[in-house]
Amino acid sequence: MSVAVKLDNVVKRYGALEVLKGVSFDIKAGEVVALIGASGSGKSTALRCINRLEQIQGGTIEVCGRAVNDDKVDLRALRQDVGMVFQQYNLFPHMTVGENVILALRRVKKISRADAVQISRKVLDQVGLLEKIDNYPEQLSGGQQQRVAIARSLAMQPKVMLFDEVTSALDPRLTGEVLRVMEDLAKGGMTMVVVTHEMGFARRAADRVIFMHHGNIHEEGDAAILNAPTTPELREFLEHDL
Ligand code: ADP
Ligand code: MG
Repeated sequence: MSVAVKLDNVVKRYGALEVLKGVSFDIKAGEVVALIGASGSGKSTALRCINRLEQIQGGTIEVCGRAVNDDKVDLRALRQDVGMVFQQYNLFPHMTVGENVILALRRVKKISRADAVQISRKVLDQVGLLEKIDNYPEQLSGGQQQRVAIARSLAMQPKVMLFDEVTSALDPRLTGEVLRVMEDLAKGGMTMVVVTHEMGFARRAADRVIFMHHGNIHEEGDAAILNAPTTPELREFLEHDL
């Protein structure tokens, strides 16, 4: 299998604060990786470095064969390859669901309105919300809005999807519908890096779990490490974070 994302000894600092202290991992095409760890351990920073929302101070990152920190990298192409979904879904409130989904297709990919509408119908169907295409975000639940945000990202046909605590802002009874959409994506072969506190999701969907601690990868393995952690830090994290 080809490598979709490769971090090699990545160092990220904010001023004197070293947030990533030489992080290395490979994510193969089609692989689903759960990135876990306590608040402040560097998970979001690692994701943000992957699509160069952050510059790094050491090491290298490659995404689909592209050197992310090369001065000549095509940032637009990079960010089309890498979809990102955040805790805050940030849909435009004055636009319908369908308009939210086609916006980037029209503006960034410059495709025709008819083609964009067709794609929006397909991805909304994929997240189970085709019937909401003409509704406004405020008419949807938080879980539905987050599914629209996932559809919006899928519409760009990314090769890799990054998820940063996408269910953390949701009422617990709404997290399931979002996690199910992500599990379907995982089953469909999408390459995914998922920062999550949902250990059930990690157990069901992740091919691999990476536990970050103070800016380092402290433990990694398949989902079995969640049942049999070898380091006291992961054990403590699992006891307190569930
Ligand atoms: P996590 O997502 O695991 O909670 P983050 O990657 O958000 O952790 O943060 C890691 C560390 O970097 C924290 O100590 C955080 O305060 C710090 N940090 C994150 N973003 C910035 C920033 N823009 N400026 C300064 N420090 C930051
Ligand atoms: Mg974070």
